[in-house]
Amino acid sequence: MSAAINSMVDEYISVGLTAGSAHPMDSSRVLMALLSLSRDGQSDPEADNLDGIVAPSVLRRILSALQFRDEATLLHARRVACMATGMASRLGWEGRPLRVLEVAALLHDVGKIGVPDHILLKPAKLSPDESDFMSAQHDVGIQLLQACRIDPEVIQIISETYDTVDVEPTGGGVASQGARILAVADAFDSLSNDQVYRRGLARGEVLNILTSKTGRRFDRNIVAALGRWLETDGAALFNPDPDARTASVNAVVDWETVRQASTMGHIVSYLYLIETLYDGFYIVDSDLKIAVWNRGAEHLFGLGSGEAMHETWSRRLGTFLDEQGRPVPDADYPLFRVMETGRAASATLQLVGENDEKERMEVLALPLLDSEDRLQGVAEIFRNLAGVKRNPGRYRELQWAASRDPLTGVSNRGALQERLEELHAEWVESGDGSELSVIFVDLDHFKSINDRYDHSTGDRVLIDLVRMLQDELYSGEMVARYGGEEFVVLCPQTDLDQAIERAERLRRSVSMLVVPNLPELKVTASFGVANREPEDTPESLMQRADRALYDAKRGGRNRTCHLGRRAGDAGRRSTDPKVDEFVHQARFVSCDAADVLVQKLSGFVDDNRGRVLECSQQLVSIQIGKPGFFRGWGRRPDRQPIHLKLELGAEVEETGRRAATRRRQIQVTVTPVEQPPDPAAFRFRAAHAVELLRSYCVAE
Ligand code: GH3
Ligand code: MG
Ligand code: MG
Repeated sequence: MSAAINSMVDEYISVGLTAGSAHPMDSSRVLMALLSLSRDGQSDPEADNLDGIVAPSVLRRILSALQFRDEATLLHARRVACMATGMASRLGWEGRPLRVLEVAALLHDVGKIGVPDHILLKPAKLSPDESDFMSAQHDVGIQLLQACRIDPEVIQIISETYDTVDVEPTGGGVASQGARILAVADAFDSLSNDQVYRRGLARGEVLNILTSKTGRRFDRNIVAALGRWLETDGAALFNPDPDARTASVNAVVDWETVRQASTMGHIVSYLYLIETLYDGFYIVDSDLKIAVWNRGAEHLFGLGSGEAMHETWSRRLGTFLDEQGRPVPDADYPLFRVMETGRAASATLQLVGENDEKERMEVLALPLLDSEDRLQGVAEIFRNLAGVKRNPGRYRELQWAASRDPLTGVSNRGALQERLEELHAEWVESGDGSELSVIFVDLDHFKSINDRYDHSTGDRVLIDLVRMLQDELYSGEMVARYGGEEFVVLCPQTDLDQAIERAERLRRSVSMLVVPNLPELKVTASFGVANREPEDTPESLMQRADRALYDAKRGGRNRTCHLGRRAGDAGRRSTDPKVDEFVHQARFVSCDAADVLVQKLSGFVDDNRGRVLECSQQLVSIQIGKPGFFRGWGRRPDRQPIHLKLELGAEVEETGRRAATRRRQIQVTVTPVEQPPDPAAFRFRAAHAVELLRSYCVAE
């Protein structure tokens, strides 16, 4: 290849990655990771310790993911486990049931792995939507536990702890009793420790609150057992060794742990996506044993996960007819087609329900291939084509704002924008002229790190950078991944001089980062700083910081630049003819057959009140959003009118050692339909739309 073509290709690839923010794991790999968790999750039925309830490697992986997500959540789980087993012992529990309860307590907050900071750490009561979102995440957590083959009694305790608002004071099996103990321990620990939204209460005060609610929410005997336990064995739990906590926070985390925790994050985000976009989902392994069975599948096939899990999958699970109402032969059923060919398969079928009513479904079967391209299982996903989704639409609205960046665990661009708008609204309302600064961070020549080493070294640098930024954050600050190797730090109550000082400190810390085993690898970053001015909107503030960053790059990198509002108005960018600020480009790869892709795109168009302007084999042109009534561009980012042009590349067959996959490049060009107030506002909207589109296509 000639040098000129080489550099063109490089440029093409880097546009795709930065604009769309690379998703380092594709859906098949995420599901494969889930399947291998299920394989590793086999507990040892002979063991009379915790290993008899959950495989130690799986327990370790889930707990590290919780820790990676939020240290405080892990510490809480540990205290709750200690309290729950303490109380249960006082009530005469021993042996296996006691161990089941301990594991349930350790894992009861597993759903929090997928909850973003702005909800998890919100210093106020959650809104109804946010509570709904939390409970959807809780379902995803339960699904993850099921996939990991955690003992069903553990899962039952955890589900009941959340499901029972009004407990029956007596009766119920061991699981219900366990759930009541766990509910008391959880509430006690939450009330007695500091939370982001309120200070911890004294022990006596908490016991009074719990006692006042006995009978309705909490069991009287259990609260009494807690009181007795606290006076004796429990005392030590609340006078922890202060050094112990610091030691655990500063402990060196090995790379493998970080990698596994981040994989767990991917799995949870993906399960959530499936929950919101599809109606049912399961995974079978290569022996056709059911390894994952979600709530939607329970609903569709009228079979609880307790009955389905680990059974052999069979066509008798459901009756499927083709579009003409004829039974579907095995050879045409998607799951069998995948088994046969090793490639994704899809079909539109009718599922016959209990009273013979038929539901039209899109059935999509994905091969799960290991690193050597051997087929290890199949995921089958169902979508009801009548367009009635199980989940209310508001989940979907939250989905973008809510998801975190799966690689680094910090907030993504959506969460950043939400926080910025919140801060802006508070500021406008209070009129108190408080300070707010924004710091843009972009790694220098990062592409060459990927090129010189490999992509996973690049990933490692991103993760280490984020850990460093998080360590350096002051309370109230927020760090978010803005795109590929770009990050933003929001600094409330910080004036311009302080923010420049802050950026300089961060810059020096970046230059001191050492990547294990690669002492020669030098990392530097450039910084752009801006401070809020009276007429600023969130967009104009971000735009100024972005311009300052551009100056830092042009000035030679590894430096901090800042811009006052006036300086930013000089219109320098428009004198650079190479940059068209109102064209946003991204690129992704789809492994879907043309008909599946078209169905997914039409789902995207329907859900976003859009319309298709043009559709051919090579080009799909879509408009979404509507011009505002007074202002053309509008304030609500999900309504701002844009035009998306999708250029569909030819299908390329890639042959692995065993299976072949079809891949197709999709190049997306986004342009505004009305004039946006500034390029940053447009970029926000365009990047969001592309991210959403990508999630519909479940693309790489
Ligand atoms: P500059 O100093 O001008 O910022 O140069 P650069 O190479 O850092 O910037 P450019 O925007 O040209 O390239 C960014 C690179 O970041 C391209 C892509 O390979 C890489 N990248 C983006 N996201 C990821 C990721 O998640 N993992 C890894 N390893 N690399 C990523
Ligand atoms: Mg860079
Ligand atoms: Mg960049």
